[in-house]
Amino acid sequence: MCIPGVPIPGPVMFFIFGFPEFDSNIKKYEGVKLHCDRCNNDSMEAIRHRRFFSMFWIPFLPLHFSKRIKCTICGSFRDVSKSEIDQLFKR
Ligand SMILES: [Zn+2]
Repeated sequence: MCIPGVPIPGPVMFFIFGFPEFDSNIKKYEGVKLHCDRCNNDSMEAIRHRRFFSMFWIPFLPLHFSKRIKCTICGSFRDVSKSEIDQLFKR
């Protein structure tokens, strides 16, 4: 049905995007725990952190890579450099 003066709607485009984050253990430092100042437990682990840009739930554009130490209990974290992480987890 066509009403005079009312434009016909065109195709509608939509995008679903997000910034998902992924954490994974660093094999070299697995099993080594540091002390967490926030919750007072020995539960800080070295992790590899990555953030992506995703479109329709598919991560395809990496935005940020870093190494972190993260507490497995309270979740507090801190970005560290490669040399700093080597020094912290030296056995
Ligand atoms: Zn903690």
